[in-house]
Amino acid sequence: MPPAMGRTPRLAHPPCGHAHPIIAAMPADSAKLVYLETFGCQMNELDSELVTTQLRALGYRFTPDAEQAGVILYNTCSVREQAEQKVWSRLGIMRQRKARQPDLLLGVLGCMAERDGRDLLRKFPHVDLLCGPGELDKLPLLLRNASTTAEPAIALQGNTSRRSATLAAAEDSLERLDLSRSFAPDDQRAAGRSSYVRITRGCNKFCTYCVVPFTRGAEMHRPPDTIVDECRMLVQRGVVEVTLLGQTVNHYRFEHDAAVSIDGVMQPQKGRSFTGGHERDPVTGGRVTTFADLLRRIHDEVPALRRLRFVTSYPRDFGDDVLEVIRDCPRLCRYIHVPVQSGSNRILEAMNRGYTVEEYRDFIERIRAHLPGAMIASDVIVGFPGETEEDFEATVDLMRWARFKNCFVFKYSRRPGTPAYDRLPDDVPDEAKRRRNNALLALQGAISRAIHVEHIGRTVEVFVEGMSTVQNRREPVLAGEGLRPRIAAGVTGLTINGLSLLADEEGDCGTACAAAVAAPEWGESAIVQLSGRTEGDLITVFDAPRERAQSLVGAIVAVRIDEARTLTLKGTLLE
Ligand code: SF4
Repeated sequence: MPPAMGRTPRLAHPPCGHAHPIIAAMPADSAKLVYLETFGCQMNELDSELVTTQLRALGYRFTPDAEQAGVILYNTCSVREQAEQKVWSRLGIMRQRKARQPDLLLGVLGCMAERDGRDLLRKFPHVDLLCGPGELDKLPLLLRNASTTAEPAIALQGNTSRRSATLAAAEDSLERLDLSRSFAPDDQRAAGRSSYVRITRGCNKFCTYCVVPFTRGAEMHRPPDTIVDECRMLVQRGVVEVTLLGQTVNHYRFEHDAAVSIDGVMQPQKGRSFTGGHERDPVTGGRVTTFADLLRRIHDEVPALRRLRFVTSYPRDFGDDVLEVIRDCPRLCRYIHVPVQSGSNRILEAMNRGYTVEEYRDFIERIRAHLPGAMIASDVIVGFPGETEEDFEATVDLMRWARFKNCFVFKYSRRPGTPAYDRLPDDVPDEAKRRRNNALLALQGAISRAIHVEHIGRTVEVFVEGMSTVQNRREPVLAGEGLRPRIAAGVTGLTINGLSLLADEEGDCGTACAAAVAAPEWGESAIVQLSGRTEGDLITVFDAPRERAQSLVGAIVAVRIDEARTLTLKGTLLE
């Protein structure tokens, strides 16, 4: 049907479903206008933030509107099939636009680029640029090359990421990307919010369902001084909460005797993790900075930091020394996200997880003993190859016993590039996967609700992240260039392994456009509903007068809990 007379024709915007004006030709000034869409985990969100900082410093600007941009970048995830299909769909749609606007630069960043490499270009020859997650510091150069040559610009690690420790350290140019935050001292966008700081990259675990060790390479640990400095710098710019990131964050370990400096910059170090099971690290002191040491250093040396968190923990090699530091340091949040994946030893072995259900239970008991009242979250995969009803029931038993505050449940799907893809038949019928998935969601819903009900009448401290989703829906106003409040607040518990709970609630926009989606206007209503998180990562909403609402974002406030829902607590702001 032709568009109505007198109206600007509009296209359904692929990433977020909003309508945007059709542009017949790319505006002249759009060559440095970037649309960046992020899929997947917190690590990808941080990568996108760092890429944004880097490109802004070079004169690029960002837009939440893909149709206005001259550069379209997708920072991709290959952990979940759904996220991957969205990228295929975006790239398919872009084929027509590229035919219409040959100057448009289309780039694929992240894990899909690294895993698929030139295969991706064979399928989508209109893609101009591929950049793996270990090569993001080269993005400016790739953009320049892609705009001046007809050949695609490509930077992938390939199989070079597991080199010897010395060579890897000597060539770790990616460290510059993390350090780029320090090169933008006037950047005040961080004010009043939560921020990620990467402490390790890559992974050495090789779980059979996961592609991360192949796309992000070997575990690399950043120098502790650099991490502490980065936290200090972020706090000076107004950050209230820092979340330390690592695929197996508790494996952090830096051996100072083996440190390498290049041009005065201490280089990250290839991980030789402590693998002492559940004991404390036997080698501590001046020569080694353990994860426990790092937490204490940040806590003590950045006293203005109000909250310190970390994700994602690996159930093995998590010593009591870490739990003791959390117990003794009041600004370290009592929240641990530690994926179990299955309650069956047989399935854990097939997953190559490297621990037993008994060891996992022992870890949960140690957390409870050291940190009474701590909130624990987890991830579970249902329908992994070979999972029987008995295996599934073992997972149900574990979840009942563990009482996670929330648990992200995934239906297994074969992921290309993983060991399980080739070796293990995907033999659990879809119907069984769905049934098991729904049963665990119902169980977790009941547990979460019960934990929330226990909070009624208590007063909790809430870090205010922004307007609640409900309020956002009521007043979906977009204006200016900035960050969405919840994304700006560094949503940490809701986007795990590519699953964004809030994104599911509100559609694709949850993780999309993170670099450039507009800030909210606060509307006309006298009362605004704000949303934030407790120390234990419980989402809490409360009403505030409109004239105060904006000033509360980024603050930690006292809220008395009046109501409990499955996903949220609702309370009253105490003056
Ligand atoms: S699931 Fe986590 S620990 Fe296992 S290989 Fe992937 S990133 Fe590493």
